[in-house]
Amino acid sequence: MKIAIIDGYVDEPACFGVPPYISPYIRYIAGALVERGIGRDNISYFTIDGIRNSKKEDLALLGRADLVVILSGMTVPGKYLRSSPITLKEIEYLCRTAAGVKVIGGPIRLGYSSEGGMAASTLEMADENVFVARQDIEAFVHDIIAPGPCIGDPDNVEHRMRTVGEIGRWADKGAFIIRQHPDFPNIMCEMETYRGCGRDTHCSFCTEFFYGPSTYRSVEDVVAEAASLYKEGALYFRLGRQPDLFTYHAVDLGDSLPRPNPQALESLYSGIRKVAPGLEVLHMDNANPATIATYPDECSKIMKTILKYHTPGDVAAMGMESADPAVIRANNLKAMPDDVFEAVKLMNEIGSIRGENGLSHLLPGLNFVHGLAGETKKTFGLNYDFLKNIF
Ligand code: SF4
Repeated sequence: MKIAIIDGYVDEPACFGVPPYISPYIRYIAGALVERGIGRDNISYFTIDGIRNSKKEDLALLGRADLVVILSGMTVPGKYLRSSPITLKEIEYLCRTAAGVKVIGGPIRLGYSSEGGMAASTLEMADENVFVARQDIEAFVHDIIAPGPCIGDPDNVEHRMRTVGEIGRWADKGAFIIRQHPDFPNIMCEMETYRGCGRDTHCSFCTEFFYGPSTYRSVEDVVAEAASLYKEGALYFRLGRQPDLFTYHAVDLGDSLPRPNPQALESLYSGIRKVAPGLEVLHMDNANPATIATYPDECSKIMKTILKYHTPGDVAAMGMESADPAVIRANNLKAMPDDVFEAVKLMNEIGSIRGENGLSHLLPGLNFVHGLAGETKKTFGLNYDFLKNIF
């Protein structure tokens, strides 16, 4: 049985998978297939850019595949330098070209738009051989492979979320797929530490709450995944699939923000360094400035841990979104400007020292969103003044 995985790319508030990044979902799908008895040689991986540039003979492989899995979904308004996410027309074309069963999933299950930030419409496909995974695509793909292995009846497969235990196994079994990426070995492996936002209220624009409460992967599983990827030749890693790295395995004390757990970060980073001693890049993404402002002692320890084990040139993306208090309140945003200022100050104090490659170790990055509810002419001025104040 031949299976093709097509990477139409993903970009979510807490996960990135546009080249040179490869999202964890691709590796989970490949691992789920292997676990169901599909041989590695029968699993082919294509990026949508690779397909656009491919010859007719290569496309014939897609036509012959028994199962074509298409991953897609942009839920934030990203702009990409050298890659373009899959379009709806391309999905329809690929579904017509491939004779076998087609499964489409990933964040696109929440709706399709040509880019994040635009109104999304529900993805409906008229072809009876096309199935949209309404929950986790990796779980759906796993469950439609029946013993044999062969493809079972997708109509009888329950749409469900995967468990952390499953992705622990699938991440390990699916690491081999990175070697088929057209940019390999120059790819950044996006790694998941947890998903689901730990706040008790959520930002108006964000899709992370669809994943439910925070479900943390164990340190052992993430480290084992890094080891598997490293054995396959991965050298570039980013701890990017989580809403806030500073709350990895945080303790929920019933407050609006869980208390960070510095020991968990120490175990995680030291473990990755131990299993991948020759890695070239170990970076992070996503830090909630409110966590840093609320728990400066714990977060200072975590920053020092990051500096000890990561590679310089690291950026903690802080989703500030707006410096206008009215907009912050109207959209349930995570932090007031004073909190963000304190978080930026603390990270600059600890992280701005230069590393061996001449870059600062760890700097705050600030994300702003334009177009939020409640914005007025004053909003831009408040954002600008905030940035001038930092400068
Ligand atoms: S803090 Fe806001 S933007 Fe970040 S994951 Fe939670 S809801 Fe999304």
